[in-house]
Amino acid sequence: MAIKMRKAIIKETGEVKYANQIPETQKPDLICHSCHTDIRHVNRHPRELPSGSRTWVPAYFGLKSKGQHNEGCQYVPKHLVEKVIADSQLGANAEQIFNAKENGSADFRLHIPIEALKIIQLMTEADETKTTEDAFSGTKYIRNHEQLNAYLNTTNQLMTLRALVEKERDLSEHVNIVLYGRKIPWRKFFYDEKRYPDLIKYLGKSEQKHPICLLMNGIKKKAYPVRDGWKPAWSLNSYEKGIDPRDNVTRWLSISVKTKDQGLFDAINDGADIAVLFSPKLKEGYSESNGVQYVNVSGDLYHKQQICIIS
Ligand SMILES: [Zn+2]
Repeated sequence: MAIKMRKAIIKETGEVKYANQIPETQKPDLICHSCHTDIRHVNRHPRELPSGSRTWVPAYFGLKSKGQHNEGCQYVPKHLVEKVIADSQLGANAEQIFNAKENGSADFRLHIPIEALKIIQLMTEADETKTTEDAFSGTKYIRNHEQLNAYLNTTNQLMTLRALVEKERDLSEHVNIVLYGRKIPWRKFFYDEKRYPDLIKYLGKSEQKHPICLLMNGIKKKAYPVRDGWKPAWSLNSYEKGIDPRDNVTRWLSISVKTKDQGLFDAINDGADIAVLFSPKLKEGYSESNGVQYVNVSGDLYHKQQICIIS
């Protein structure tokens, strides 16, 4: 079980170092700064961009194979999950987003954040004839702003954990995702850069879609100014090269999430790695620009808790 860690202790000197402070040619013996188990350093690695330039995926510390954090260590996933669940508890009259199981795991009820996204979409798009409270009418799980924020906050914490664990099973053995009583595999909810072909495949299917969590590395920010009849908008974009499963041709997957909230846009730095909760749409076919082929996936951002800043 392993969470990616940013800092560690050099065994020989006792110094605390961040992953990016360890020179790539050095291999010092390292221990976890929380429980002192032996750990390893994973060097940063380059990522290509469609322009031909490159960016870097940051270095981190992880467990050695078959290594384990000691009981009580802050990086034990089980404890991190327990903390998210404890923090998520709402009063007796509210729906709980986690449902504890007898075997010690918990169900995460995905339909609750889905309802939350629908409410904030309605509030964002409400015209003057409606009040934002209208967005809550007819909802099944969420009654007020306090609950809405609490559910999104919990969802954000769980997404952050998923982005930080080295393997899916580090989290999936503690938390199941459940949508209206039906179990959804984690791999259908969370997509990192290596699984973009799976995302294209999923979006191309005719089955009913649910929002997903997507890891976007090294984002590029783009502003769309006011134009005739258009309100200003901002987007966060990322690019990853992979094989398009529809015809086995290598293309760039271009992800673009748009928002009309400048505050949300300003809070993210260019080049950041983020995880985003949104409802993606796949544009049919592919586009081509300067000899580079793109598959385009887009979606909307309404609330800051849809974004987890990973690094
Ligand atoms: Zn540890």
